[in-house]
Amino acid sequence: TDPALIRNFCIIAHIDHGKSTLADRMLQLTGVVEQRQMRAQYLDRMDIERERGITIKSQAVRMPWAADGTPHVLNMIDTPGHVDFTYEVSRSLAACEGCILLVDAAQGIEAQTLANLYLAMENDLTIIPVLNKIDLPAAQPDKFAAELAHLIGCDPGDVLRVSAKTGEGVGELLDEVIRQVPAPVGDADGPARAMIFDSVYDAYRGVVTYVKVVDGALGRRERIQMMSTGATHELLEIGVNSPEMTPSDGLAVGEVGYLITGVKDVRQSKVGDTVTFQRNGATQALGGYKDPRPMVFSGLYPIDGSDYPALRDALEKLQLNDAALVYEPETSAALGFGFRVGFLGLLHLEVVRERLEREFGLDLIATAPNVVYQVTMEDGSEFTVTNPSEFPVGKIAEVREPVVRATLIAPSEFIGAIMELCQTRRGSMQGMDYLSEERVELRYTLPLAEIVFDFFDALKSKTRGYASLDYEPTGEQAAALVKVDILLHGDKVDAFSAIVHKDKAYAYGVKMAGKLRELIPRQQFEVPIQAAIGSRVIARETVRAIRKDVLSKCYGGDISRKRKLLEKQKEGKKRMKMVGRVEVPQEAFIAALSSD
Ligand code: GDP
Ligand code: MG
Repeated sequence: TDPALIRNFCIIAHIDHGKSTLADRMLQLTGVVEQRQMRAQYLDRMDIERERGITIKSQAVRMPWAADGTPHVLNMIDTPGHVDFTYEVSRSLAACEGCILLVDAAQGIEAQTLANLYLAMENDLTIIPVLNKIDLPAAQPDKFAAELAHLIGCDPGDVLRVSAKTGEGVGELLDEVIRQVPAPVGDADGPARAMIFDSVYDAYRGVVTYVKVVDGALGRRERIQMMSTGATHELLEIGVNSPEMTPSDGLAVGEVGYLITGVKDVRQSKVGDTVTFQRNGATQALGGYKDPRPMVFSGLYPIDGSDYPALRDALEKLQLNDAALVYEPETSAALGFGFRVGFLGLLHLEVVRERLEREFGLDLIATAPNVVYQVTMEDGSEFTVTNPSEFPVGKIAEVREPVVRATLIAPSEFIGAIMELCQTRRGSMQGMDYLSEERVELRYTLPLAEIVFDFFDALKSKTRGYASLDYEPTGEQAAALVKVDILLHGDKVDAFSAIVHKDKAYAYGVKMAGKLRELIPRQQFEVPIQAAIGSRVIARETVRAIRKDVLSKCYGGDISRKRKLLEKQKEGKKRMKMVGRVEVPQEAFIAALSSD
């Protein structure tokens, strides 16, 4: 295809503003999906995506559309809207020349609208502002068109209005895409350079790599090279999604499509990497390849210890399709054998956990999520801590934690509530802007650790669901952080160690000790439960002793009955974990770890 007739665009929006529904309408209107095959959120293929109504993996689809009688090729890239997947959004944006900035006409601009808009601006994309859901009775298109025009600096009359649900205005929007979005430009005669913007694992075909060809052309049977690693492969298949995979002879400048090389692991085909020829290839990679970095860690343990090999296999399989997932084996006195798993964020954690339970039938217990700490000792040695129970002992000079820049958008009546919440979470305010008379944007820096627990829930409840949040990592800061250990009868329960700010250590200790006192059954001796920082005890509870002598019921010499009873008692103990001398049913740990 002549690059002048190609338009590569994406749709960016806050979650639930209607990206996937708009994509559905476009698929229908351009005829690539027939009426009878249509189903809602056609491109959200994973079960979890469909059930939760969120888009996790980006998708690219090629669609024909004629403008002024000239047939054009539209490549639409549907992007994930959630903060955890920002890197994927930004790679998808880099494959486009323009974007549709979609805003719900009943909601207005939200935090991820802004975050995505900034990414689009960084990538120099042409931005087409669009209000969606104009069919809703609650829609206020005039008000939000003004808000949107003010934000991007255009005329309110230039803001398009559509209903992705009814299809109203969608055809005109496609015409505008062709009119406003620039055609891709590249060096058609140079060595091939294609940017990988997505990479997915398919059980039958291996890794399917999505690329945009920037320069030159790629053809079937050619040998290609990944520029970040130097690895070479043969192109077994090349083609476009329309919307199902359709093989072709090759892809030229400006075209978006897929490659199949037979590799089995998405880490061999990394998002952001540049593909070129093995021989006489390009020497300069396309900009910006970044390894995804896990921000949040959690221990995952099978409830039934014999599921450990199954959990290991399942993680291995998931990793084939998720380059951001990292894990290593870990053992816990309280929970047995498991894995320490690293995630991009909380949604990533939830999605992985849910897939492990649903797709692999595993029952899992997860320890409370924690961030990564950098610890410098007085002797100058450095530690990276991904598991609180491995926090170093000895003379610590400094502990650093990751911080994020957060953007919160809400009706102005909630400013006080939001400021109060951020204050208790150790936030510091960076600025505040009014988007309109009654809506305000607040900017804060906050420790990531304060967000990973229940910040979002707290924010929603304090603002009756009206506030939205987006954040991005900005670096780290030194903080007065301490490790709080929980001890049962003098022995540490590793799964409960936590790194908390010193001002919050006491509250954490009291809460955990209290929880455990209620959950741990009485033993034949008194069991003290303590919370401690180093050797200093900050809270204490006690489980009183009982004498549970099953044998005292067996008067006389009935040996076989006695043996049976002893055996029964032993069986009961199997599901018990020993922490030092104390027997704890696994259920107690699970209950204590579940947040409330
Ligand atoms: P995404 O998260 O941006 O992909 O949003 P979805 O496409 O999943 O849409 C979120 C919800 O809004 C779904 O329940 C859609 O049915 C609904 N929705 C999307 N577009 C429209 C629209 O134009 N009008 C109305 N009334 N509802 C819409
Ligand atoms: Mg979606």
